[in-house]
Amino acid sequence: MYCIDISSSSSTDLVEQYSTSSIENLLKQKDQSKQFMVVKNDQKYVSSPAWSTFGFPAKRFEDGSCQRIIGFASCFACKDTYSYQYGGSGSTKYLLRHLTAHDCTLIRDELTKWICSSVRPFNIVSDPGLKITLQTVMNICQKYQGPINAEDILVTPPTIANNVHKLAEYYRSLIRPVLIDQAESGALCVCPDLWNDQYKKVDYLGLTAFFVTSAHGLYSFDLCCARYNENDKTGQSVLQISRLVKNKCGNFGFKSEC
Ligand SMILES: [Zn+2]
Repeated sequence: MYCIDISSSSSTDLVEQYSTSSIENLLKQKDQSKQFMVVKNDQKYVSSPAWSTFGFPAKRFEDGSCQRIIGFASCFACKDTYSYQYGGSGSTKYLLRHLTAHDCTLIRDELTKWICSSVRPFNIVSDPGLKITLQTVMNICQKYQGPINAEDILVTPPTIANNVHKLAEYYRSLIRPVLIDQAESGALCVCPDLWNDQYKKVDYLGLTAFFVTSAHGLYSFDLCCARYNENDKTGQSVLQISRLVKNKCGNFGFKSEC
């Protein structure tokens, strides 16, 4: 559709005082929908991605022509309207923020649908691993500057199961020299941690390494975890099982003095 720009100063017979809220109301009213609409920014060199969602509010006349309302930009989807000066001086900062709000709504709805349909806990959205994975996917999309099919990058459960051992060995190889160094300095402390799963009635024993560096930084690493099947929780039993667990879960390269 052909639109001409109008300005209130030159078109005296078309002077109308518009504000962002009045334009929004006109665009949203169903009985006005034929008279007011959002038209595409059809400039050849549109650099901002905001213009895929935003256009210009315009008034349509009976002869089919329309006139752009100068000084504003409106969202095609929700009709939210912002002040916008076209022609170099206009910033799309607020339009892009609006885009982000739309995307947040989309993500919120997709997460809600996933949690409900697959019966996942609500707090899964707070999982640090989910955030890191999503950020990695976004970085990949940015790297290739385009959408990527999720099926192409997701892996199967057996692949994850196999990768657990591979990654565990890799991180052990990284931590091994650090732990040896700390143990030789007499600064390493390996603490057992007993807990139980009330629902499954299973006891567990975990081993965590703690040390303080010369720069006074406190570090801790969860070394391993296994079922605890002893009848009692005396120091003697915990020490015995701790040694077995440590040897079974991987050689960390230091000798236990405990
Ligand atoms: Zn919108």
